[in-house]
Amino acid sequence: MTKLGMGMMRLPLLDENDQTSIDIEQVNKMVDAYMDAGFNYFDTAFVYHEGAGEPAFKKTVVDRYPRDSFKIATKLPLFVITEESQLEPLFAQQLENCGVDYFDYYMLHNVSGFTETAWKNVDLYSFIENKKKEGKIKHIGLSTHGDAEFLEEILFEHPELEFVLLQINYLDWEDENIEAKKCLDVAKKYGKQVMIMEPYKGGFLADVPEDAEKLMKQHNPDRSVVSWAMRFVANLDACVVLTGASNLEQLENNIEEFKNADPLDDKELEILDEVSEIINSNITVDCTKCRYCVESCSEEIDIARLFDLYNKHKMLENDDWTQFGNAYLNYSKLDGVGIASDCIECELCIEECPQSINIPEVLKDVAKTFETEIYGFEN
Ligand code: SF4
Ligand code: SF4
Repeated sequence: MTKLGMGMMRLPLLDENDQTSIDIEQVNKMVDAYMDAGFNYFDTAFVYHEGAGEPAFKKTVVDRYPRDSFKIATKLPLFVITEESQLEPLFAQQLENCGVDYFDYYMLHNVSGFTETAWKNVDLYSFIENKKKEGKIKHIGLSTHGDAEFLEEILFEHPELEFVLLQINYLDWEDENIEAKKCLDVAKKYGKQVMIMEPYKGGFLADVPEDAEKLMKQHNPDRSVVSWAMRFVANLDACVVLTGASNLEQLENNIEEFKNADPLDDKELEILDEVSEIINSNITVDCTKCRYCVESCSEEIDIARLFDLYNKHKMLENDDWTQFGNAYLNYSKLDGVGIASDCIECELCIEECPQSINIPEVLKDVAKTFETEIYGFEN
């Protein structure tokens, strides 16, 4: 039976300009609400919140709940691995960060053709298998945003893997880049447990265009927009669906939606096809705000944040520049950040992007929209 997992990727912040300033008090309340609802699966990663994610998990869960009352999943940051000698100290650091003696689920983080080039001489698979033999990991697996063919190659070569974490939601189901349905089919074919991430696609499916919302509401006025996304993933026979709630209210709503996630009927699935078409024709940049790209940018451009502003601006038919234009202007005044036009087109970020976005190209549009057209910045 599918369980709801608490993803700790986008936790609430005390200072929106500082990813490490996690609002621990609010996360405590989120953890309590989640555990009280009868769930116990937490998903974090070494890189979340610029390294503050695992320690926040320790403070809010491990320091407050007995070890046998929860499951912890975390991830080996492939992006920083180039040598075998890095693995032991990094793993030890992760155990310390999380304050645990073992991980229930441990995965290679975002395995892709791009990340593989950096660690191709490091035997990560044997490393995690040995950690499992030592009892430091209960279950080994990987997360990937690769396509179905890529996933099949890995699962064929590595039968020791027990689970995969996949990006699945109704918008990506038939998407030719993400191939969510095909990836799920491959994972099932190889008998792997499946964890689902991004059920709301970084928030896109919680905030759909008006026309799409109208379709959903006409069919059932009592169902929220997000409940459709949750019902879609909750009935796919996965073992966990991760909610990436970024505040207590969102989490409480997600719990309610999950508990009431009866399967969609054929008519509702048809409506979701129409909804997907409307959303796809409205999305400007397919960014899920995962922030994998941000570290690679020497110009300190907060790519995820700028794409979010850009999408929101484009989504609103009558944004008269004030709302998101002002937010862009405020951002540009912060110390130590780059604006869109600071991009030097080095393309290092593209390799990090699971959604295969041509980031420097899109940044040109962002600069044109917010800098040239609104404010006439000169850079
Ligand atoms: S291409 Fe632009 S946004 Fe990407 S890493 Fe280079 S400077 Fe930063
Ligand atoms: S541009 Fe790509 S890597 Fe960067 S935050 Fe968006 S989806 Fe993630």
